[in-house]
Amino acid sequence: MYERLKIGVLALQGDFERHLYQLTALGASGREVRLSKDLSGLDGLIIPGGESTTMNNLIDRFSLRQELSAFVKHKAVWGTCAGMIMLATRINDSTIEPLGAIDITVTRNGYGRQVFSFFTDLNLTLGDKNVIVPASFIRAPLVNKTGDAVAVLAKYDNHPILLSQGNCLVSSFHTELHSDKTLLKYFIDKFVLPAQALQPTNGI
Ligand code: GLN
Repeated sequence: MYERLKIGVLALQGDFERHLYQLTALGASGREVRLSKDLSGLDGLIIPGGESTTMNNLIDRFSLRQELSAFVKHKAVWGTCAGMIMLATRINDSTIEPLGAIDITVTRNGYGRQVFSFFTDLNLTLGDKNVIVPASFIRAPLVNKTGDAVAVLAKYDNHPILLSQGNCLVSSFHTELHSDKTLLKYFIDKFVLPAQALQPTNGI
């Protein structure tokens, strides 16, 4: 079902390999994205966890900023942890230039330092399904503010942790470190496939 999908993973830094592994395990084609040409023909993109300051610098060093900013505003994109920070509109760290795909304000390392990183099983309602998703919060960002157009899909300890706006999905936690693929499937089914159906067909 996913064989024809080409989903990119920003592969400048961070845990992009786990996302690529998960995509392959689901039957989709994953592609490492480092240069702007790697974005062409993709049905969706995942921005992984890692270190957002480094990712931000590498986006400029690889001259990706312009094409990446345009891509995330029009195509399906999922940001996990540092990826969520990059896709936000406002960050409490002025050294990072956010990509602005979702109207949220985030605080980096909002749960505290590494010792406050934790693992939990999340009880999520995705669409009409209740699911349990294993999740790791690793120096995770905290969402402080959400704009009117943003849907809060899940909260933990009263803080939004899974949110969406249009084609953009963000999670402050990692699921790709576990073998569970529920959230990846959700991203593909609810964000990538519907966006693909809207693409004009060549020659018709
Ligand atoms: N703390 C990291 C940052 O600020 C994010 C950590 C992660 O992606 N697990 O970029």
